[in-house]
Amino acid sequence: MGTQRVLVSGAAGFLGSHLCEALIAEGASVVGVDNLCTGTYENLTELNREPRFEFIDHDICEPLKIDGVDYVFNFASPASPADYARLGPETLKVGSYGTLNMLEIARSLDAKFLHASTSECYGDPDIHPQPETYWGHVNPIGPRSVYDESKRFSEAAVMAYYRYYGVDTRMVRIFNTYGPRLQPTDGRVISNLMMQALLGEDLTIFGDGSQTRSFCYVSDLIDGIMRLSKSDEHTPVNIGNPEEWTILECAKQVLAVTGSKSRIRHEALPEDDPTRRKPDITKAKELLGWSPKVTLPEGLRLSLDYFEKRAKETPTSKA
Ligand code: UDP
Repeated sequence: MGTQRVLVSGAAGFLGSHLCEALIAEGASVVGVDNLCTGTYENLTELNREPRFEFIDHDICEPLKIDGVDYVFNFASPASPADYARLGPETLKVGSYGTLNMLEIARSLDAKFLHASTSECYGDPDIHPQPETYWGHVNPIGPRSVYDESKRFSEAAVMAYYRYYGVDTRMVRIFNTYGPRLQPTDGRVISNLMMQALLGEDLTIFGDGSQTRSFCYVSDLIDGIMRLSKSDEHTPVNIGNPEEWTILECAKQVLAVTGSKSRIRHEALPEDDPTRRKPDITKAKELLGWSPKVTLPEGLRLSLDYFEKRAKETPTSKA
């Protein structure tokens, strides 16, 4: 990234803030944009100490006037199922108007572009593991559709700006990721289970817990994205950890890492909850020389300090 000036939408989010830090570490100047609908100022604490970081409080659904940017990273969107259920229309808008506005910036400034897409493009997959060539099995009108279809529209928009306007674009399909700054209250499985374990509450398992996810530690994911940003690949690339866990196994890992005596409580499985998810990362391996290093037990240990601090701040804390 060297001396580049980079624009990052969603900079105050979990992944956006980690990405900004990686870009700063490589010598770039970073302009972070976020409307803080799910991101937080707290995520920007370290970045705000950096002279090469600038923050703009702005909703990218509205056009943004900016000059002198060489690279645009589009990471703005509610992303946890609870957040996009609460912010349905906003999620659809940021993945359509927001993405188009970011693409227009890249087009007008002749900047490179990297878009954060998602494994949700595969829906409830009937091919396992999921390669990038799989078109997906998505319910276009279900509760997840506000997110899935906004992200699928974004992919179509990115490909159109590449094909019709020659914008130098890339996109990453991100699988479940966790680590410090995952919001304790965003309803995701790792944050819920870690907080519940540390607070001595029951661990909520939706359904029988036999559904699977493949969890990637945040530093591995950011490494993959940085590599992709320097490549010339224009079609989607999966970045995720192919180590697949049932949710019940994941809960057991959380209990082991936290040393918690919490019990497991089963709750109703949400509608359209995918039964399995596992990336085929052959393309990332061959193209980027990338593969993840951190296993789930290791990554949970690396996240423990962060969740312990959040648990201590929780008013009902029994920790
Ligand atoms: N889940 C669970 N308990 C929770 C939160 C989530 O059992 O407290 C399950 C959820 O039903 C899903 C999986 O964990 O099968 C992952 O959910 P998450 O919200 O983290 O993300 P998703 O991969 O579904 O987008």
